[in-house]
Parts: sequence; C-alpha cells; structure tokens
Amino acid sequence: MKLCLILGDQLSPTLSSLTGLDPQNDILLMCEVRSEATYVKHHKKKIAFVFSAMRHFAKKLSGEGYNIRYIKYDDPNNTGSLIGEVARIISQNAITAVVLTAPGEHRLKTEIEGWPATLNLPVTIKEDDRFLSTPAEFATWAEGRRQLRMEYFYREMRRKYSVLMDQNGPIGGQWNYDAENRKPPGSGLDVPDTFRVQPDEITQEVLALVETHFPDHFGDLLPFHFAVTRDQAVAALDQFIAKRLNLFGDYQDAMIQNEPWMYHSHIGFYLNCGLLTPLECIERAEAAYHQGMAPLNAVEGFIRQILGWREYVRGIYWLKMPDYKSANFLEAKRPLPDFYWTADTQMNCMRQCITETKQNAYAHHIQRLMVLGNFALIAGLDPDEVNNWYLLVYADAYEWVELPNVTGMVLFADGGQLASKPYVASGAYINKMSNYCRACKYKVSVKNGPNACPFNYLYWDFIGRNDGKLRGNPRMGFMYKSLDRMSAEKRQEIQDDSHRFFTAIDANEKV
Ligand SMILES: Cc1cc2nc3c(=O)[nH]c(=O)nc-3n(C[C@H](O)[C@H](O)[C@H](O)COP(=O)(O)OP(=O)(O)OC[C@H]3O[C@@H](n4cnc5c(N)ncnc54)[C@H](O)[C@@H]3O)c2cc1C
Ligand code: SF4
Repeated sequence: MKLCLILGDQLSPTLSSLTGLDPQNDILLMCEVRSEATYVKHHKKKIAFVFSAMRHFAKKLSGEGYNIRYIKYDDPNNTGSLIGEVARIISQNAITAVVLTAPGEHRLKTEIEGWPATLNLPVTIKEDDRFLSTPAEFATWAEGRRQLRMEYFYREMRRKYSVLMDQNGPIGGQWNYDAENRKPPGSGLDVPDTFRVQPDEITQEVLALVETHFPDHFGDLLPFHFAVTRDQAVAALDQFIAKRLNLFGDYQDAMIQNEPWMYHSHIGFYLNCGLLTPLECIERAEAAYHQGMAPLNAVEGFIRQILGWREYVRGIYWLKMPDYKSANFLEAKRPLPDFYWTADTQMNCMRQCITETKQNAYAHHIQRLMVLGNFALIAGLDPDEVNNWYLLVYADAYEWVELPNVTGMVLFADGGQLASKPYVASGAYINKMSNYCRACKYKVSVKNGPNACPFNYLYWDFIGRNDGKLRGNPRMGFMYKSLDRMSAEKRQEIQDDSHRFFTAIDANEKV
C-alpha cells in the first residue's frame, strides 16, 4: 500500500503523483499543518484561501473514489508538521512506499530528501509536470550563457509550444510588443471589478478557523471572495479573457488611486496552487486573439508573463538555490520600516499599495515592482526582511516565484543575474504611470527639501551610495554621467535630505 502526500499548492487533478495509484487501496494524505502555515506569518486571506481550496479538492477526490485522509488544522491529533502526519499514517497502516510530486520550495525539498532515512521507507519524488519547463531543461538552456535574459528563454518557449507562431516566426513579425504596453492611466477608464465568489459552508468554516488561530497575522480576512475550486478558477479566467484581456497590454503598467485590480488577470493565486494550469491560460488567451476578442499587444504581453516570466523565474530559482537566498550584492542593511505593515506614511503611493495589499493580499506587478520594490531598493532595505515581507503578504506568494522577483528583479541583490540593471525610478515615473501624486502630501515636482517627493532625492542618493558597485554597469552609464554633472551643492542637498529621511524612518517617525 502506497501513501501519496498532496501539498497545499498541488491541487491539480492531473498531478503526477496521482498517476499509477490504486484509488481504493492506496492512501492520499492532505494536511493543514502549523509548520507550513507559520514558517512565515502568511496573510490571513492566503491561509484561508489555501485551506479552503485544499478542503474542496479533497472533497472532489473523495467523490471520485480516492481513499483520502484529510487532517484539519484544529484536529486534536494533528502533530503540526508534514513529517509528523506522514509518520502517523505509516504507524497505523501497512505502507510500503511514499510518493509525492516535487515540492515547489527548496526548503521543503531538502527536508523531504531526508525522509527515506527518517521513515525507513522508499520515498519517490515525481517531476512537477504542471510547469512548462523542468529545472533540468532550464539548466541546459543556461549552460555556457554569459547572461540569462528572459527574452531569449521566452522565444524558445514560444517555439517549443508553438504559441503565437506562424510558419515564418512570431505572429505579427515581432516577439515582444512591450513598447505598446506602457500607457499611462487614461481618465474615465471604467475598470471592471475582479471575479468574486460568495464563501460557501466550507470556506465559512475555514474563515472562522483562521480568525481563531491566526489573529496576529497580517492582513484583512474579510471580505473574502477568492475562487476555491477549479471550476470557479476557470470562471475567473474566463471573466478576465472576456472583460479585461483586451486592455491588459495598454494599461499593464498603469496605477489608479483606489483601483487595485486594474486590467490584470488575478489568476496568480489559482495558477500557483494548481487550480489552473499555465497552458490552459495561454491557450485561452491565444484563442481570444484568433477570435478577434483582444489585440496582439495584449495577448502577447499576457502570454509572455506566463510562458516567459513565470517559467524563467522558476528556472532561476532552482538553478541558483540555495545561495540565491542569501544574496546581498549591494550590502543593503536597513530594517524594513514599520509602515510596510501599517501603511501609516504620508507617501501616498506607498500608502495606497500597502493598504491594498493589506485588504486584498494582492497588488499588481507595477505596484510591487515600481512603488513598493523601488522604495525598498533606493532606501537600501535588507533583502531578508524585504523577501520575508513579500512572501508573507501576497496570496500568490511561494518562494520559487517570490525570491527571484524580489532578490533579482527588485533589489538587484544577485548582482545582475536576473536583471541587467536595477529597476530604479524617481517620483516622475510614479507620477507618469499613476494618479497617486495628486493626493500626496509631498510634491513630485520638487526635488529637494522637506516637501520634496522622497523618491526624488533617494533615487540620486542610491546612485551615489552604490557608485562602487554600479558605475561599471554599461546600462547605468547615463545615470552616472548625470550625477557627475551635478554641482557639489546639489549633491549635498541630496545627501542632507536623504539623511533627514533615513533618520526619521530609523526613529520610527511618520514620513
Ligand atoms: C517584488 C515582486 C514580488 C512578486 N512576487 C510574486 C509572488 O510571490 N508570486 C507570484 O506569482 N508572482 C509574483 N510576482 C510577479 C507578479 O507581480 C505577479 O505574478 C502578479 O502581480 C500576479 O497578479 P496577476 O495574476 O493579476 O498577474 P498578471 O499581471 O495578470 O499576469 C499573469 C500571470 O503571469 C505570471 N507573472 C507575471 N509576472 C510575473 C513575474 N514577474 N514572475 C512570475 N510570474 C509572473 C503570473 O502567474 C500572473 O498570474 C512578483 C513581482 C514582484 C515585482
Ligand atoms: S509625490 Fe512621491 S511620494 Fe507622493 S505619491 Fe508621488 S511619487 Fe509617491
């Protein structure tokens, strides 16, 4: 008799560990354990989402005749760890082998690799074939390349899966339509609401459990409206394709006050726990293009995120771990300011993005990258603290995708293995791509002094502070030329403003 362990982000009917099982005799184990729910103090909505989706998935498998053991979080016999629960089942049954699909995180993979010795049983770890490339394929692609640029990996994936291709190459003649995807938010945009599901009885029970057992975790539990079954997640995808995909490209980088969802898909939660597969999302988007429902810049942009970025960051993660986790190329050390938890800041862009993160366990890519991440970069925040924050606050966060985005894309802490230069911007970028500055206490057009937008002087302070590390980067040349042209007085003003600002956040004063 085999024991198959299904993890909380493995809620896919096509899961590799399910193949070859004898549904009546072999045991399927799913468990809500303390060690996984609290290794970082996840957002309340994320815990509720994962537990509810797990319970719905278990119910479905049970209905299909699988012999399933589901351990709830508040089961008095719950040992609180995966190994504890696996050992408990083994002690009560004649288990001869354990099987599971490869876990998504290095931490867990290392732990599970020690199980054969601990359990004195064979443990088979199967490939997670829900992804479109394997870590081994990525390593082969990466071998011998001086730079691992996403764009080239993406083109190979387009060819491999024949996505948006015609006989002569990419449809439309170009691989990438990003240049058309940087429209500022127009006035009078009528942004459709995100997909919402009314919590059913199972979800209600989980919500009560989260309130009781995780009261001190970050974030608002209610309102809770995420999809928790595959059918609901497919409906969420359909709603995106029908209502938002057509403008996804145009407004991909745009931010509007009190519009947290914009034209993004809001499917990362569902993809990352297995309710949706990447290929079906890509195929639906491609079909929408062929049916004339959405233009090429939107469809290509969306497909690139999934076929390109998502697979690429996973490849980087497995290629570079475990060293990647401790990377700190810029030697950034500042603790995470309190306002990342409270949103209590006068910088309206930060207040908006943190408040929305707290309410929704979601912020879209440009909020994560160019507001919250940009600040973390220019303020020199400690990568460990920043990674912990991103892993904890978003309902789609798992280390394999969070870490490369934060350490590589946002903080340049890997010294440029992922991004060719730091994604760094002053207030002018935020002002161009959002309407946040209009409601801000600071003046985006003012460069120095107490009323100046902090992003303005911190940007130049960052460039100056990291001269020794970044001047040699060919893509930073124009920034250092501008810095070199600045008068001594101007540079002093930047330093003084930055010093005043840092002193205030270090003293936990409101900035
Ligand atoms: C600092 C930072 C942290 C991030 N942390 C996470 C995370 O923990 N989990 C996560 O899934 N994504 C993360 N991302 C990537 C991206 O921001 C989210 O995938 C996206 O915002 C999810 O919202 P959506 O489903 O509406 O995505 P859309 O904008 O609609 O994009 C569609 C899908 O493409 C994929 N995708 C888009 N960009 C990326 C990317 N850079 N890396 C990997 N996949 C991508 C996602 O699966 C996403 O659902 C992070 C980005 C940054 C800059
Ligand atoms: S003025 Fe500066 S701090 Fe205020 S919203 Fe604009 S970019 Fe953010």
